[in-house]
Amino acid sequence: MKVLVYSTHGFEKNFLINANQNKHDLFFTTEQLNENTASLSNGFDAVALFSSDNANSKSIQELKTNGVKYISLRSVGYDHVDINIAQQNSLKVANVPAYSPQAIAEHAVALLMTLNRKIILAQNLMHTNDYRLDDLIGFDLYKKTVGIVGTGKIGAAFSRIMKGFGCNLLAHDIYENQELIQETGITYTSLQNLCNQADVVAIFCPLTPQTKYLFNKESFNWMKSNAIFINVARGGVVNTRDMLDALNTKKFAQAGLDVYENEKPIYFKKHDKKPDDLLFEELKNHPNVLITGHQAFLTQEALSQIAQTTINNLDQWEKLGVSEHEI
Ligand code: NAD
Repeated sequence: MKVLVYSTHGFEKNFLINANQNKHDLFFTTEQLNENTASLSNGFDAVALFSSDNANSKSIQELKTNGVKYISLRSVGYDHVDINIAQQNSLKVANVPAYSPQAIAEHAVALLMTLNRKIILAQNLMHTNDYRLDDLIGFDLYKKTVGIVGTGKIGAAFSRIMKGFGCNLLAHDIYENQELIQETGITYTSLQNLCNQADVVAIFCPLTPQTKYLFNKESFNWMKSNAIFINVARGGVVNTRDMLDALNTKKFAQAGLDVYENEKPIYFKKHDKKPDDLLFEELKNHPNVLITGHQAFLTQEALSQIAQTTINNLDQWEKLGVSEHEI
C-alpha cells in the first residue's frame, strides 16, 4: 500500500521503517493532518495518524475524495478522529489498543521520585557550588499510602511497582480489578476517602465525560497538605486552574504532570516564541510543579510496539480487507 505518515516525529520514524520491512511504500511528512493539509493524501491508499492530527469531518471527506481507504492510528486514543464521518465515507480506522503499560507507569514513578527527592533542585544547587541539603528533604515511600485512580493496564503496572516500594495501596475505579486485589492487596474506596488518606495520588483513568475535571477544587481540598499528585493520563481529567489555586493555598504539596488540558497546540514541536497560553506559563513556572511534554510512552519498547501494530493494521487490510483493531 502507498501510505502517507502525517505528523512524523524524529523519535518514531526509524521504528516505523524497521517495522515496515519495505512491505508498504511509506511517505513521511511532518505536516499535521487538518483540512488544509488533507490534499497531500492524493493518490495514497492509507494515512497513518498521530494523536495531534485532526481527522475532522472536512479532512476525512477530502481523504475520501483523494482515494484514501484506510486510517491507521499510531495511538490508543481516537478522539482526534470523527469515527461516524469515517464510517459514513467507508474509511476504515484502526488503532493501537495497547502498548507497554510499563513505559507510562515507570514515567509516573520517575516524576514521583524526582519531586519527592527534589532531584531538579539538587542538580541546580550542584551547578552553583551550593552543597547545602536544607531544602532537599523528601519522605520514605516505604509504608506510605498511594492512591491510584484508574486500575486498568497502566494503573495496575504502577500499583505493582508501588507494592514493591512497600506502600499501602488504595484504589478508585468504576470496576474493581480482582486480579490486582489478589496480587497486591489493593483496597478500593471512594475518591474522597482515597484523597483523604493518600500521601501520593496518581491518576490513570481515560478522559471521558465522567472523568472531565474529576480533579477540581473539591477533590484537591480532600487531599493531604503534604501529598504529591501525579497525572500521566490526560490533561482534561484535571482542572488546571483549580490545581494551581490548590497548590498556592497549600491544599497539597507538589504535582508531577506529563499531560496538560490545552496541550494540543503546544506539545510535540519546537516553538520560535512562547506559546500564547498564560495558564501553561503559570503551570510550567510553578516551583512545585514538574512537567514533561507527553513523553511517558517514549521508550524503545513502546515505540516499537506502536510501530509494529500500525504496520500490522495495514498488512491485515491489504491481505484480509479487515483489521483486528478496527474501531
Ligand atoms: P485502561 O482502559 O486499561 O484503564 C483505564 C481504567 O480507568 C479502567 O480500569 C477504567 O475502569 C478506569 N476508569 C474509567 N472511568 C473511570 C472513572 N470515572 N473513575 C475511575 N476510573 C475510571 O487504560 P490504560 O491503558 O491503563 O490507560 C489509561 C490512560 O492513560 C489512557 O486512557 C490514556 O489517557 C493515558 N495514556 C497516557 C499516555 C502518555 O504518554 N502520557 C500513554 C498512554 C495512555
